[in-house]
Amino acid sequence: MALVTVVGAGLGGLSTALRLSSKGYQVRILEKGDKPGGRLNIIRQDGFNFDMGPSFFSMSYEFEELFKSCGVDNPLHLEKLDPVYQIFFRNKSEPVKLFHDIALLEKEFSFEPNFRQKYEQYIRKAAEFFHDTEGPIIQQNFDSLLDYFANFFQVPLKHTPYLFRTMWEHLDNTFEHERTKVIFSLVAFFLGSTPYKTPAIYSLLNYTEMEHDGYWAVKGGMYSIVSEIVKLLESRGVEFHYNTEICSVNSLGDKVFSMEDQTGKQWKSDIFVVNSDAAAFRGLVMGREKYKEAKLDRMDWTLAPFTIYLGLQHKVPNLLHHNYFLGDNFKEYAGKIFTTSETPENPYYYVNVPSKTDPSCAPEGMENIFILCPVPDLRFKKDWSDKNQFAKAIIKDLEDRIGFEILGNIKTKMVMSPEDWAEKFNLYKGSGLGLAHGMTQVGGFRPKNFDEKFDNLFYVGASTTPGTGLPMVVISSRLVTERIEEAYAKVQVR
Ligand SMILES: Cc1cc2nc3c(=O)[nH]c(=O)nc-3n(C[C@H](O)[C@H](O)[C@H](O)COP(=O)(O)OP(=O)(O)OC[C@H]3O[C@@H](n4cnc5c(N)ncnc54)[C@H](O)[C@@H]3O)c2cc1C
Repeated sequence: MALVTVVGAGLGGLSTALRLSSKGYQVRILEKGDKPGGRLNIIRQDGFNFDMGPSFFSMSYEFEELFKSCGVDNPLHLEKLDPVYQIFFRNKSEPVKLFHDIALLEKEFSFEPNFRQKYEQYIRKAAEFFHDTEGPIIQQNFDSLLDYFANFFQVPLKHTPYLFRTMWEHLDNTFEHERTKVIFSLVAFFLGSTPYKTPAIYSLLNYTEMEHDGYWAVKGGMYSIVSEIVKLLESRGVEFHYNTEICSVNSLGDKVFSMEDQTGKQWKSDIFVVNSDAAAFRGLVMGREKYKEAKLDRMDWTLAPFTIYLGLQHKVPNLLHHNYFLGDNFKEYAGKIFTTSETPENPYYYVNVPSKTDPSCAPEGMENIFILCPVPDLRFKKDWSDKNQFAKAIIKDLEDRIGFEILGNIKTKMVMSPEDWAEKFNLYKGSGLGLAHGMTQVGGFRPKNFDEKFDNLFYVGASTTPGTGLPMVVISSRLVTERIEEAYAKVQVR
């Protein structure tokens, strides 16, 4: 059977390896870091286990599909989030909680006149956007732009105006209160943009979080996803080679012959699947003109993460598992956060406290806190030597807003700036979720999951199709596996 070399042990690489090993391919994985998972990683420090990046996901059925299609029972124990999260506004003592139950939700939004009627109408429309695009756009491989447009035109024409209207305009037409609009527009940031630029059709994400399948966390921590997949791969004889970074590619005609790591070692293979960023790898490792640095810089990238991991010696009141802390200058903040070269003042941030529901991630009686503050990437703010002062300012802000002393209760702490994220996982200029999802960077316009020049080279992960986030990356592994299965007959086996 053909040998497949997967470059990168992120969720994309691991789930592709699982699918291919189920189909009888011989698989090995080369990973730059010293453990698997990529952004879906873990920090173990002083008795605390911190999830490094993702803390929840939607479309849980994609994981079900992954394991089922590989002939194994789903080993993950999932927990649905309800409330989905709570949102704190500056100068408002009570947060707004997003419950699935409409009666409870209506109480939370008592400031919005006729909330239930407007919400139900808004979510109904978002459901149509989702179900009308999931099949033809999200779950498909496209061979060419023409192929993409053929699918695109299967989406009912009545949705066209929502491609040209922004998410904010759509919310503004539906709701009256500024806070309601702000809350439902937060999903635009997950796509790497602001609600003032994101097309209204992406309100489909409000449907996925609130009504469709909701958000899920994993019992035992998010890293269980990685450890369970790795266990399966090891039992199938898949080899892992850590501390191995691919730095160049050697080709012969229309095939990649070998890839070379940082020590000069050559890795030969029949098929290669690259889980490194699909745009940046083409430009920075393969020297492709279309993806050279100046062109990559002109693309739209998602915000960079600034993350703080705190182990506290006491339980913290007033926080749920998932919490957002927003200011009172939303439009102004959203307008400049992507491109400012300054350290953001009065930043907006997300706080995750997994020890509220999973005692195994912190010593007894203690708390495990993860803070994520989206910040401009390294194209705009290059120098993060002020990272410790910035972390302190965020922690101080959180202390003031929840009325609990954090700084004096820290048992262990770690801070990661965009520079650290970029360095650790080869994230382009520190962008956290990879390429953004504007209309010119999705579907047929996104870097393809097959190579333009070499017919035994493929790509999987957040910056190829269909997009970023854990369920999308699992779909990406299915799509690339289909490509490989299709092309395999054509690949010359050594
Ligand atoms: C802070 C943060 C929070 C997030 N929160 C969520 C969330 O709550 N829910 C959600 O669904 N998504 C979330 N995401 C997004 C999610 O983490 C990603 O979409 C997903 O994990 C990407 O997986 P991937 O396999 O494409 O890439 P990666 O996880 O980046 O994996 C790629 C791997 O390739 C390795 N690599 C790179 N270049 C090379 C090379 N040249 N040679 C060898 N190895 C190489 C890297 O080290 C890495 O291990 C979050 C992301 C971040 C950063």
